[in-house]
Amino acid sequence: MHSDLIGKIEKARRYAQEPERVALDELKARFHGGNNEHNVTLREGAWNCDCEFFRVRRTCAHVMAMQKMFNPMLSEQAREAGLPIAEEHIAAHVS
Ligand SMILES: [Zn+2]
Repeated sequence: MHSDLIGKIEKARRYAQEPERVALDELKARFHGGNNEHNVTLREGAWNCDCEFFRVRRTCAHVMAMQKMFNPMLSEQAREAGLPIAEEHIAAHVS
């Protein structure tokens, strides 16, 4: 293998441990929920999901799960969208 490629592979391995290097501008995904598959998108910092809960509340379990999965790669707007109260506050109520 060429040594220049080996260097890139090593760099990729380091980068893969640093997700904050990556800023996701757009996302389009199919989310396998408990009963149905949902289409989730992120565009210009705004999430969208085709589930009923999202239509009413502007956030849902699918969006909140993806906010957690991609947290280091999201803009502040995308990270906090749909969360009117601090997550610690929610955690206190759930646990
Ligand atoms: Zn949803």
